[in-house]
Amino acid sequence: MSLAQGRPYLAIPGPSAIPDRVLAAMHRPAPNIYAGDLVEMVATLFPDLRRVALTSAHVAIYIANGHGAWEAANANMFSRGDKALVLATGRFGIGWAESARAMGVEVEVIDFGKSAPADPARLEAALRADLSHQIRAVLVTHVDTASSVKNDIAAIRAAMDAAGHPALLAVDCIASLGCDEFRMDDWGVDVMVSASQKGLMVPPGLGFVWFSDKALEAGRRADLATPYWRWEPRAFGPDFWMHFAGTAPTHHLFGLRTSLTMLLEEEGLPHVWARHDRLARAVWAAFEAWGRGGDIALNITDPAARARAVTAVRIGNGGAARLRAWCEAEAGVTLGIGLGMAAPDDPAFGDFLRVAHMGHVNAHMTLGVLAVMEAGMRALDIPHGPGGLAAATAVVAG
Ligand SMILES: *Cc1c(COP(=O)(O)O)cnc(C)c1O
Repeated sequence: MSLAQGRPYLAIPGPSAIPDRVLAAMHRPAPNIYAGDLVEMVATLFPDLRRVALTSAHVAIYIANGHGAWEAANANMFSRGDKALVLATGRFGIGWAESARAMGVEVEVIDFGKSAPADPARLEAALRADLSHQIRAVLVTHVDTASSVKNDIAAIRAAMDAAGHPALLAVDCIASLGCDEFRMDDWGVDVMVSASQKGLMVPPGLGFVWFSDKALEAGRRADLATPYWRWEPRAFGPDFWMHFAGTAPTHHLFGLRTSLTMLLEEEGLPHVWARHDRLARAVWAAFEAWGRGGDIALNITDPAARARAVTAVRIGNGGAARLRAWCEAEAGVTLGIGLGMAAPDDPAFGDFLRVAHMGHVNAHMTLGVLAVMEAGMRALDIPHGPGGLAAATAVVAG
């Protein structure tokens, strides 16, 4: 008997759950885009977007998803034929490399596989080998949502400094911003990209690029940027329309205003990070217990290299695909597919899934997902160790 009636829960790593208050803030008639509420409200977004990234850098807002934010950053950093070094730790690192290559950038990829973070020592060696400083920027994901690896951005910066290389450090925080601790200025990040639909809890449609003074200066010679993608007018205006190169994404901006207030004023960023950390640890604890009695494993072994926004796991013999189907049909919970771990036509594709715990997520949601998964494993006779839920509840209890 299906128990899927009631409010469904989409536990995929983006789009994440949207707070009702964000949706309510968007439910309004079209605002005037020349003066009044919208124009005054948008002026408050720029300082708060800096606060959420812990930076004094500039920020540009695009009507775009994460792929658009990648291209926006590429366009402002590079000229055709410039060189980029990409540290790939999953499907999204590869994706950023592909977007730069398609735009005419010469891309070198160091691929660290799908289950480990980037090794700063290998980056340092690659930069030392670049004697004539051809590499304009190092591109890396903070959290790669496909593998759920978290890269150590401060260590990557330290490796660049140790090599004495002037390249920009550009970081994809699309999955991590508002979930995992990220400190743009302390960690020496020059360019950071994010999007609205993950930790920022707004529907997909806004892309963001933060850029330092060094990046601004370096970007003045980049010839890939066309008027729509140039970051300077988006960050500096001065006319209101210039922030958006045309009509503003009016309703998304009102939603973002509410989500930033929730994150920065009401909950506070340190608590937001601590909440994600605790919920992530509950998920890991459950999988570690289940894995002691079955072919079940977390994708990332080292807890320090695990995302707090999403967890990628392996459940052998196609168990992941069968479990996802059961959870959706029988319990109203939709889990994420495994992305980039195996090709969709490879039977191993059915061995991977991802549990999202990003954004507007609390203890009952995450414990609910875990309990539903354990029920599904029982129903489907997927071998698993005992005590997964007890381990997760112990983490939540603190
Ligand atoms: C979701 C995601 C993207 C892609 O974002 P879209 O909005 O789907 O284009 C890129 N990088 C990371 C790390 C992501 O999590």
